Amino acid sequence: MAMPQTDINKTFNFVLDEYKRNTPDSELIDDVKNVAAKLDKKSVTIAEYEQNGKFHPCTLQRRFGSWFKVLEICGLEPSRSKLNISKEELFSNLERIWISLGRQPRYNEIKKPFSKYSAGTYENKFGSFHEALESFVAYMSNGSESSQNDSSENVSFIENKTASKIAHKTKREISDRLRFQILMRDGFTCKTCGRSPINEKGVKLHVDHIVPWSKGGETIPDNLETKCEQCNLGKGNAFVDKK
Ligand SMILES: [Zn+2]
Repeated sequence: MAMPQTDINKTFNFVLDEYKRNTPDSELIDDVKNVAAKLDKKSVTIAEYEQNGKFHPCTLQRRFGSWFKVLEICGLEPSRSKLNISKEELFSNLERIWISLGRQPRYNEIKKPFSKYSAGTYENKFGSFHEALESFVAYMSNGSESSQNDSSENVSFIENKTASKIAHKTKREISDRLRFQILMRDGFTCKTCGRSPINEKGVKLHVDHIVPWSKGGETIPDNLETKCEQCNLGKGNAFVDKK
């Protein structure tokens, strides 16, 4: 009489969502470890676990915060699962591609080795490639030049040989975001010679200070412009010679 009842419970427990929610952490963790052992792998991707595990990966992600955390707790190596790549990382890859093309990348251009991540990775993270581009543009446009000046505590001083000091309102470094804004503004075209990766493969663009930072120039859009690598390299000396 006791036998069939256990069986019923077993079936029931397995089906009910309630059961999963109450599953002790250790049982979830052990199951991931078992899958790793079964696959003879040092890491388990979400997809692999979904195929081989007893629980839904979402249950574990919800319980432990992220798949990355799950692997950490299990003592497994971080998986290369696409879902673990941060938006910032995906944006920075997109930025590099956009700059090297001088324009908005196309779906079929987002592939390795040109791109570090496949278009599918962007689709997974953002829903669609188009949405990925939209989020990227929003991310890059947000925080205009004013945010560059918000660091009043960052007023920096530079000392030159004659020990005179120049007070700067901005930092010398051009943030990725500001650089991208300037490139967009200048149409990904060198302001000196007009070359652009849009019509010439391999042209490398830089964003540089018009009045050098060392001469008191600030890191603001009005003092920044797009230059190709060649013009940029020639520029530093030209300025010194003139002054
Ligand atoms: Zn140039």
